[in-house]
Amino acid sequence: TLTNELVELDKKHFIHPTSSIKEQQENGPAIIFKEGKGVYLTDIEGKKYIEGMASLWNVNVGYGRTELAEAAKEQLETLAFASSFATFSNEPAIRLATKVADMAPGDLNAVFFTSGGSESNDTSYKLVRHYWKIKGQPNKTKIISRERAYHGVAVGSTSATGIKDFHHMTTSLATGFVHTESFSPEALRKTIEAEGADTIAAFIAEPVQGAGGVNIPPDGYFQEIRKICDEYNILLIADEVITGFGRTGKMFACEHWGIVPDVMLLAKGISSGYIPLGAVVVRDHVHQDFINLSEGTLLHGFTYSGHPTACAVGLKNIEILERENLVQNSKEMGALLHEKLRAFQSETNIVGEVRFLGLIGALEIVKNQQTNERFSEKLAPQIITEARKRGLILRTVTFGDSDTIVFAPPLVINEEEVNELVSILKAAILEVQQAAL
Ligand code: PLP
Repeated sequence: TLTNELVELDKKHFIHPTSSIKEQQENGPAIIFKEGKGVYLTDIEGKKYIEGMASLWNVNVGYGRTELAEAAKEQLETLAFASSFATFSNEPAIRLATKVADMAPGDLNAVFFTSGGSESNDTSYKLVRHYWKIKGQPNKTKIISRERAYHGVAVGSTSATGIKDFHHMTTSLATGFVHTESFSPEALRKTIEAEGADTIAAFIAEPVQGAGGVNIPPDGYFQEIRKICDEYNILLIADEVITGFGRTGKMFACEHWGIVPDVMLLAKGISSGYIPLGAVVVRDHVHQDFINLSEGTLLHGFTYSGHPTACAVGLKNIEILERENLVQNSKEMGALLHEKLRAFQSETNIVGEVRFLGLIGALEIVKNQQTNERFSEKLAPQIITEARKRGLILRTVTFGDSDTIVFAPPLVINEEEVNELVSILKAAILEVQQAAL
């Protein structure tokens, strides 16, 4: 059969990203996807799944958008690619930069394009160091990030990532990266004092930590962080790779707290995954200093920075987000999903905290709902396996003592689909609970 053939070829030739290579060799791929429509994916055998994670928190406008295919086709036929290095430019890149500048909070008005979140991160570290260098403070080089942070897998972004599991592949991280507690302005202040503000270029944070387990900051945290960065003359970088473009019920998560970072990092939802694309957006004061103080060439640029086809798809994707009010839907459906999952605290015996902001959320598995004691053997992975059998794809966070299921469905999800997701997950939890208790 086709499945058998593809499984064998997969095992032999395809090194999967973020995978257990051994397990992949033994079992082959669990699902070979074929097509998608709305919130659903179908595999090559015709089995249908709700994608409760929008793939990798990124397919915000949902699957199967022919409009995006048409935008790509039109641009591919007109001008598939052209350089935007130095003095070259192209209309889709100009229009998308303008659109992102219009949408972004405050005076975040100048855009550098990348092909994804890791590139956006590594670019921002170089840009903020360059910024301090041209301002005559070349010792301001350190990047402070947080302990449960995820920023990507390039050498810089791996080093900024605080989740230790992601460090295990490398024997040496990049220098100049310092980690601090995730939700403590006081800890940040102490770290700055200990390191010396005159050695620190920037503090970077995800407005809502994604891979770290969907950790939503307490109100006031980011306002306080913004103040501390100003006080110590440190740039604030918001990694909105997951949270940008409506995921949290606002276009950008920073809007929840009314703060404007000096640098904002984007990817994922900027193109809903239809094509690789990312961006680094900087405020006017940063851009102005680059214009006034830079000498020589800014020797940083990817072949695909400002890729016309990627930018054309990004533009059309944003048009869909706005036209269909998907940010509002994210807020409303997120609240509904939150409410229905919170009911699991009484409808099951093993669901602890459930937290959401728009359509990003997490549900904790606990042995004891009063004390939040955990099971010694983690159950979240078993639950998502049961859910998958029943046609629902979700993801777990299990590093440290986490036993967590996370959610980030496409922003187009409707009430009926929320109900379907909830009922499948409930059946999966009850099945695992019965065996465990
Ligand atoms: N930053 C955050 C907050 C992310 O969640 C991710 C990916 O999940 C990245 C950066 C890295 O993005 P990419 O995988 O596109 O390189």
